[in-house]
Amino acid sequence: MLNTLRKIVQEVNSAKDLKTALGIIVLRVKEAMGSQVCSVYLLDPETNRFVLMATEGLNKRSIGKVSMAPNEGLVGLVGTREEPLNLENAADHPRYRYFAETGEEKFASFLGAPIIHHRRVVGVLVIQQKERRQFDEGEEAFLVTMSAQLAGVIAHAEATGSIRGLGRQGKGIQEARFVGVPGSPGAAVGRAVVMLPPADLEVVPDKAVDDIDAELKLFNNALEGVREDMRKLSAKLATQLRPEERALFDVYLMMLEDAALGGEVIEVIKTGQWAQGALRQVVGEHVNRFELMDDDYLRERASDVKDLGRRLLAYLQEARSQSLVYADNTILVSEELTPAMLGEVPEGKLVGLVSVLGSGNSHVAILARAMGIPTVMGLVDLPYSKVDGIEMIVDGYKGEVFTNPSEVLRKQYSDVVEEERQLAQGLDALRELPCVTPDGHRMPLWVNTGLLADVARAQQRGAEGVGLYRTEVPFMINQRFPSEKEQLAIYREQLAAFHPLPVTMRTLDIGGDKALSYFPIKEENPFLGWRGIRVTLDHPEIFLVQTRAMLKASEGLNNLRILLPMISSIHELEEALHLIHRAWGEVRDEGTDVPMPPVGVMVEIPAAVYQTKELARQVDFLSVGSNDLTQYLLAVDRNNPRVADLYDYLHPAVLQALHTVVRDAHGEGKPVSICGEMAGDPAAAILLMAMGFDSLSMNATNLPKVKWMLRQVNMSKAQELLAEALSHDNPQVIHSSLQLALKNLGLARMIGPGANKTL
Ligand code: PEP
Ligand code: MG
Repeated sequence: MLNTLRKIVQEVNSAKDLKTALGIIVLRVKEAMGSQVCSVYLLDPETNRFVLMATEGLNKRSIGKVSMAPNEGLVGLVGTREEPLNLENAADHPRYRYFAETGEEKFASFLGAPIIHHRRVVGVLVIQQKERRQFDEGEEAFLVTMSAQLAGVIAHAEATGSIRGLGRQGKGIQEARFVGVPGSPGAAVGRAVVMLPPADLEVVPDKAVDDIDAELKLFNNALEGVREDMRKLSAKLATQLRPEERALFDVYLMMLEDAALGGEVIEVIKTGQWAQGALRQVVGEHVNRFELMDDDYLRERASDVKDLGRRLLAYLQEARSQSLVYADNTILVSEELTPAMLGEVPEGKLVGLVSVLGSGNSHVAILARAMGIPTVMGLVDLPYSKVDGIEMIVDGYKGEVFTNPSEVLRKQYSDVVEEERQLAQGLDALRELPCVTPDGHRMPLWVNTGLLADVARAQQRGAEGVGLYRTEVPFMINQRFPSEKEQLAIYREQLAAFHPLPVTMRTLDIGGDKALSYFPIKEENPFLGWRGIRVTLDHPEIFLVQTRAMLKASEGLNNLRILLPMISSIHELEEALHLIHRAWGEVRDEGTDVPMPPVGVMVEIPAAVYQTKELARQVDFLSVGSNDLTQYLLAVDRNNPRVADLYDYLHPAVLQALHTVVRDAHGEGKPVSICGEMAGDPAAAILLMAMGFDSLSMNATNLPKVKWMLRQVNMSKAQELLAEALSHDNPQVIHSSLQLALKNLGLARMIGPGANKTL
């Protein structure tokens, strides 16, 4: 059964559109279950009716015509109850409704399962049989499993359809929303340009072309190139291979013929598809067919076809590598964006980035933040190979992308982009102004950095210090551990650039999703594993070299602060402090005259929240890492788009934890700052200020917005808003009451779509 299921899903996955996918589903499920009917009904969101979309066994002419409201018929019942329904004789059920068009009177037994994607009922899968009988438990389980598997496939196929402007009913262009994770803040409205890694056939996008002859010529040249290569390869191996083994090359050559793969590609090109897309389509079909075969030898042929496909593609891409056209407002889309790809877009044309793979800590996201390019990562559901050339909105605050946006949405986001531009223009004036509320509360705004490129942006935007320098960033872009001398030079640059303002350097925080290519950590559960201080305490040599480099770098500047990540117990803190003192003693013995810098602890693990007092007693300051604290308090992976909607730093539990940390830190007379993304959210910043945080540290992009906002809101008003937020037990209520209050204060300007994560 499992094997059957896997095969069906695989086949459905490779269907070219929703209609084909549904056709395969009903045919294969009917076969697998030995029933007389299998049908799929999909819920049309516009009419709120379940529409018969595919059937095997009912009259096919009723497809698209038969539909029922959620309160009608057995299908409606399955959809509204969100439970399977298994009936020996459907006609006996009070909800049974007869549709003459379907020829349904012939079928007695009925088994229906809801198709649910991300909590939303998208349709109902039904099987029927002539004789009266109850389907057994095994059959019911199979159908339920099938519909659970198919939900994602249907959602994906629907999204693909809407991308090309063909919705379920083929009704014009549809807007679609895809959820990923934030990579770099900011909003962008532009046109997608899909960039492919060299010769990766699976990621080639569809593209319509007018000049079919030119594509045919390109493809014929590629065919000739590969043929020639094959002949040469075969000749080269003549001394090493037996003649029958060399016959493999003849098979390759045969596949290139007009009557085989070569001819099929040409036929697809003639329909107006570009050569690369036609090649992907034909090779994909062949590979799928081979992979579905039970015979091992034939399954192996799939890799030959793939290989051939890649070789042809390499020729085609060589021919086109110079011809990518970048729109003035290019949104670069790729399966896995690389820093090198950024360099290929002509200057001034790149407005946004989208990557299917990766997280906020991928190299390209780090670069994007330093360059101020709005970026969304981990957009796993985006059928990215289909989006080339279409209009797109990137919301790097929320980690969302919209394709084919409606006029209204485009206008809203264009307004945000324009506002950000104006704000950036008015930056000079704002930069010189202090962050002080109308009733005189002073709130220092610091910045988070990683690359040296962050420094210039931070200074342009008037940062008053560095609240978090992520030292793992220079480690991540290196090919090996940087030496003490190399680290010293890097740290010195940061310290000197901000001098005399303070620079808070966090010790190496690798693990989780921050990987070093030269120090791989493979774990089942990396966010609960060997991460941050746990790694460096196990490797004192790494920790000592790093702290020595920091201390030496600060000689004569004395603006260094050291911050320890991922502390979960007093014991870890004591060990780390011991090592820092040792390093300090060593550098002084070597003749470097530096005072002991202030040392702080990150509060980003729930255990640290409850030990704030004990931790505060041993250090000079605390800094809350709200990104990890939210993740660990709510048990929501910060990089998993599937649970992105649950990741919420305005959750009452997070707000209460933050409040506790500030109260307990101040109780010990120690200052406390916050350096997670939350601090850069203008609305959340009001609450943080009211809680009493001594400074907020954020990405440079958001700093002017937060300053603008806090300069409008009295501290007394902020305290009122905080009291109200803390009185609610429901995150949604907190969001809406905060939003409403800010609107009433006339501060809606910063809280439009995309303005931040919270509102
Ligand atoms: C945090 O966890 O909030 C934080 C600032 O650290 P990072 O995002 O680097 O884990
Ligand atoms: Mg963290």
